[in-house]
Amino acid sequence: MKQRFLQVALPVPLRRCYEYKIDERFEHVEFLPGVRVDVPFGRRKNQIGIALKVLKQTSLEPAKLRSINHIIDDEPLFSPEHLRLLDWASDYYQHPIGEALFSAIPGLLRRGRLIEKGLVARTETGLGGQAEHKIENNGFELNERQISAVNSITSNPDIHCVYALQGITGSGKTEVYIEAVKHVINRNKQALILVPEIGLTTQFIDRLKQRLPVDIRIQHSGLTEKERLQNWLAARDGEAAVVIGARSAIWTPLKSPGIYIVDEEHDLSYKQETGFRYSAKDIAVVRGKFDNAPVVLGSATPSLETIKNIRSGKYSGLNLPLRASGMQPPEIQVINLQNEPVSGAISRPLLDAISDVLKKNNQVLLFLNRRGYAPVILCHGCGWYAECRRCSVKMTFHKEKNRLICHHCDARQALPMRCPDCDKAELVEVGHGTQRLDQTLSGHFPNARILRIDRDSTRRKGSMEKMLIEITTGDADILIGTQMLAKGHHFPKLTLVGIIDADGGLLSADFRASERMAQLIVQVSGRAGREHKPGTVFIQTHFPAHPLLQTLLRRGYEDFAKLLLAERKNAQLPPYSYLALLGAEATSQATAKKFLENARQRLEKFDARLEIFGPIVAPIEKRKGRFRNQLIVQSNNRNTLRKAMTPWCQLLEALPGANKTRWSLDIDPQDML
Ligand code: ADP
Ligand code: ZN
Ligand code: ZN
Repeated sequence: MKQRFLQVALPVPLRRCYEYKIDERFEHVEFLPGVRVDVPFGRRKNQIGIALKVLKQTSLEPAKLRSINHIIDDEPLFSPEHLRLLDWASDYYQHPIGEALFSAIPGLLRRGRLIEKGLVARTETGLGGQAEHKIENNGFELNERQISAVNSITSNPDIHCVYALQGITGSGKTEVYIEAVKHVINRNKQALILVPEIGLTTQFIDRLKQRLPVDIRIQHSGLTEKERLQNWLAARDGEAAVVIGARSAIWTPLKSPGIYIVDEEHDLSYKQETGFRYSAKDIAVVRGKFDNAPVVLGSATPSLETIKNIRSGKYSGLNLPLRASGMQPPEIQVINLQNEPVSGAISRPLLDAISDVLKKNNQVLLFLNRRGYAPVILCHGCGWYAECRRCSVKMTFHKEKNRLICHHCDARQALPMRCPDCDKAELVEVGHGTQRLDQTLSGHFPNARILRIDRDSTRRKGSMEKMLIEITTGDADILIGTQMLAKGHHFPKLTLVGIIDADGGLLSADFRASERMAQLIVQVSGRAGREHKPGTVFIQTHFPAHPLLQTLLRRGYEDFAKLLLAERKNAQLPPYSYLALLGAEATSQATAKKFLENARQRLEKFDARLEIFGPIVAPIEKRKGRFRNQLIVQSNNRNTLRKAMTPWCQLLEALPGANKTRWSLDIDPQDML
């Protein structure tokens, strides 16, 4: 027998594969790529790995190689195409292949669970239910724009094209998705739909379930591990027609992929910010290309990347400029906080407007993207403020718990009675979080039913659903919400939206802040007046004349984006350049910096066209007790950047100080803090 070897991916943080001997016990076994194997690793007798390739030769010394223990699967976990996708992603994002593969499979499979026949249970809307469900129509015909969008998306179903579906809130994008998915289902293919967060998109999902009489699987964190595995298998084996999930659902294998849809494509949650730092939206585009399937990126406020791609002809732009119901978009009023007396973060005109709306028994949404009671606790005597011991950020005061909480590491402290520095009892609460706004409003409107919707108030399972019901049935009068409420909800009685503070986005050091601010303003404003009631939006700001804000409000998101794109082009920032961010964390700033200096030296050798900035201290200097430093690599050519990354990463692993430094490479970083 000719000796064979097996290349295996293991879930370990090193950027390499491992080789094992295939001994005579497995003489007749093929070892298809993607089957799990049990191997010894280091001092561990049993470690689960994924077979990648059978080798005739090994580059290592054959005598030193160990044999595999046994083979776990009869058949590969996924198709060669899916393996190719994961290999591509591992390479593009510079994440070790073993960890990438393992993060893309359900937990039970990671831990060695066998895939027995019959594991895939049918859901209540399973294929058996097909006859009982009728496609329910909403009693309207699609309008011309919707029809034309559906036609574009479905006309060449086996050709890859990215359709950027831009439509204001309420313009009928969801209807377009539904029609496009119907086409896909009729051709016996599958649809994968990504949403920012399952818990916040229940209305969207319910609508899809009502209208599509097929096996729809929702992947979300509320499911048991077994259910998640079942959904995964149902998708892989072609039993599920539609899979809906948040970011990580992009790794769901599909037997016959027909369409990829990313709803609210501008949403930040599609980028994973730890470990395997992939962008699910970008992966969707790549998957579509690999599978020759159309990809739909939908949003009322497309990302600048997407807008640039429409303009350059890379994406096909589809527009739904009007509200489907024929309703006018809300009227927007800017309140200049410099001239207005403000009582507890709310200006007089906004207070008056709220009281009018309440009289008419309609609803108000106040948007404040800051949870907690007060973002700063400050000493009047000496200027001391409460900062997290482990992070270089101010601690937020949470009155309900009477605690200072760090929103970065969740550290908690009691509120001091006196200033720790000057011992004066002059500590004051500065600024407003949602809890404080809640308290202020109860003072002004004692009879109003106020609902606060943020991470704190929705932590308990089912609480979000409960509040959504209270809102839609009209039991709630005033809603106070963070960005959780900016997304896709449809509240029929909502006629007034107040944006408490629009200034953050105009002042931030992050070059993406103004884009985010505009997206939030447009998204939140879109909640007002959706059904038969016209809406009004009040925007409170200290900078009413700011050109970006003016452009957004007078000429709309498109023109705003144009202006911002011009700025980005001037500054050679994304999407006109491509970035990689090498972050380093260590017990001292000097150690982190030293590591990055070495890293920079190594990189300079690869390609003189790369621009390298840093090392610089990260905007958030310290997090969880570790000091943070960063190096930013930039190029106006994606491939130039890409080519340098793999060899660089390999060098980084061996760099002096690599063991004393926690480092991570983020390709196409979104969060630069
Ligand atoms: P979006 O997803 O863009 O926010 P939706 O698809 O949710 O918009 O549509 C908004 C509202 O308009 C929904 O209540 C929907 O039922 C309704 N609607 C959609 N398309 C039409 C149409 N062609 N005619 C009448 N109403 C429509
Ligand atoms: Zn003090
Ligand atoms: Zn902290």
